[in-house]
Amino acid sequence: MRNTAAAFAMGLLATLSATAFAGPPPPPPGPDAALRVPRAAAGEVSEARLHATVEKLVGFGTRHTLSSMSDPTRGIGAAERWVAEEFGRYSAACGGCLEIVTPEEEFKGQRAPGGVRIRDVVAIQRGTGDPNRVVLITGHIDSRVTDVMNATSDAPGANDDGSGTAAVIEAARVLSKRKFAGTIVYGVLMGEEQGLYGGKTLADYAKAQGWQVEADLNNDIVGNSLGADGIRDNTHVRIFSEGPRWQGHEDLAARQRSLGGENDAPGRNISRWLDLLADRIAIGLDVRQVWRNDRFGRGGDHSEFLNLGFPAVRFTVAIENYDQQHQDLRTEKGVQYGDTIDKMDFPYLRKVTQLNVAALAALAAAPMPPEPKVEGAVSTDTTLTWTPVPAAAGYVVRWRPTDAQNWTQSLRVSGATTRQVLPHVRVDDWVFGVSSVAADGSESPVASAVPDGGFHPYAPQPAPARR
Ligand SMILES: [Zn+2]
Repeated sequence: MRNTAAAFAMGLLATLSATAFAGPPPPPPGPDAALRVPRAAAGEVSEARLHATVEKLVGFGTRHTLSSMSDPTRGIGAAERWVAEEFGRYSAACGGCLEIVTPEEEFKGQRAPGGVRIRDVVAIQRGTGDPNRVVLITGHIDSRVTDVMNATSDAPGANDDGSGTAAVIEAARVLSKRKFAGTIVYGVLMGEEQGLYGGKTLADYAKAQGWQVEADLNNDIVGNSLGADGIRDNTHVRIFSEGPRWQGHEDLAARQRSLGGENDAPGRNISRWLDLLADRIAIGLDVRQVWRNDRFGRGGDHSEFLNLGFPAVRFTVAIENYDQQHQDLRTEKGVQYGDTIDKMDFPYLRKVTQLNVAALAALAAAPMPPEPKVEGAVSTDTTLTWTPVPAAAGYVVRWRPTDAQNWTQSLRVSGATTRQVLPHVRVDDWVFGVSSVAADGSESPVASAVPDGGFHPYAPQPAPARR
């Protein structure tokens, strides 16, 4: 396959016009200079801070969604007030750069039969160039034990999801010292264990605000490296992403059957982009892309973003420890059960947080991905077109064989280009996409030229006529 692809590429390079630079592709998110800020920000992520935050969260006894909202020291209300205060301290340190909001929504369900008022704690760092474009980092603050309805027993939730919450808070501390073109939102979510309620609350809020959500990086269980079977892995993080878009899937299916795109939802392209970013920043953490929406039969808050058409992925440890999730604190036959802080791996949590911080910085610096279209059926050439992206100084056209994991071919074009012909490239044999590049070289994820491959919420269209 590689030789065939190389032959295709060489034929292409020989025939491209001189206006296009066709050197070897710089992998996203752009050239080395563009990674200066993401690398520097990642370098400031503090293991001690992450530890202190998880310790503080565990200290609230339980953070069960149905625990007390008013008790001053125990329960989810006290924990949320502390998070809001912490965001407030960072904001004071940056001259009020964070706006702290608490979106609320009412839910009723199997795990909240009496109804529950969900309140997220969210810090918004407005972009200086493109403020309506939003990248988010999220984690859930609520915790649980064996019985999901038990709101009174100690439920430390150190790793699930004190780890993700600590990553969100540390990202806010580090990134609020800097300015970015796009807006960064730090979301601490409630009600995940009762039914992804906090994810839905923030996704609904994003929609109501009219935000152009580019990505939600959801961190849920990101702070351990040892499995119950003794398997250890502290050098990988798993990133889960959906392949076909869920939102609009019934209508999309017909277009995807005709035009492809089963492996190219925006979230999948964020996953590819994160994989390359992790390689570039070299923090000793590799991305293991898992090409399914979440773990087998399980869920997380990112799905509520996907339900509204907002691109989202889930970060999770490489090796979960099931004795330390959703368990009453106890020792049985010499085995310790429970989600306690002593079982966590903070150097590992630091690396996962570093990748998130670098990703947020790089995404916020790069423009929005374009919305490319491809044509070329029954033709010897392929033509890509896209509408101009504000603030894009250039674009990179990328393509790959349909069975390749990541983009293999690329062509950089100027910011004035919105149409590119690829001579002697047969559309049938490749998947195509385009990324946007900022003046400093920061490169967005690729948006694939497939039905609804763009990073906007799904827009219904008629099924294509067959040729
Ligand atoms: Zn969780």
